[in-house]
Amino acid sequence: MLSPAILDRESRRAFDAVKAVLGLPRWPRIPIRWNRRLRRAGRAIIEMPAGGFQSAVIELSPAYFAVYPGDLYGILVHEAVHVGLAILDEPFGHDEGFRRACLAAGGLLHSRWLPGRVYVYRCPLCEGEVERRRPASESRWCADCADEAEAAGADAYAADRALVLVRTEFRGPEAVDDKDVTIQTGGEAVCTLDPPSPDAR
Ligand SMILES: [Zn+2]
Ligand SMILES: [Zn+2]
Repeated sequence: MLSPAILDRESRRAFDAVKAVLGLPRWPRIPIRWNRRLRRAGRAIIEMPAGGFQSAVIELSPAYFAVYPGDLYGILVHEAVHVGLAILDEPFGHDEGFRRACLAAGGLLHSRWLPGRVYVYRCPLCEGEVERRRPASESRWCADCADEAEAAGADAYAADRALVLVRTEFRGPEAVDDKDVTIQTGGEAVCTLDPPSPDAR
């Protein structure tokens, strides 16, 4: 795991940059904690009990930073921009204002997939392949071939046209959209702001 000294140095650097980019007069104390159960690089948990900013915590995934230690500054900036915009009472999801501030402070817009397994499915008609991060729980069909079958008046969703799992493979990092802001009102997470991550193609 990253040393406390590195975490301390990088968080100061990230918070200073975000404070300057957003023009905040002061920066509150934002604790950073490791969360082994986190399934993404990091997240900001923002307490807004009465609709206004009260406090925030940034959580980081030890597994993620064991693989991508070089992403630390960029992810800290990313999470700190969510917090800074909440302090300013501005929208703090991944909108245009967020992206501009995040990039200006040297942050990363996206984290990466942890290396892992992908499930490769093949269309029995066109032999095209589709990859997914998780096994499909029910049958899926190739969109192009389903459209063609429908246009031809055939049963587009017949069982023998469904995608077939042909193999699994190991994949390295890929860009992924995160759902990494949690708003809390009185200790309970009530919603996450960001759109769900696009399914693995
Ligand atoms: Zn097809
Ligand atoms: Zn985010």
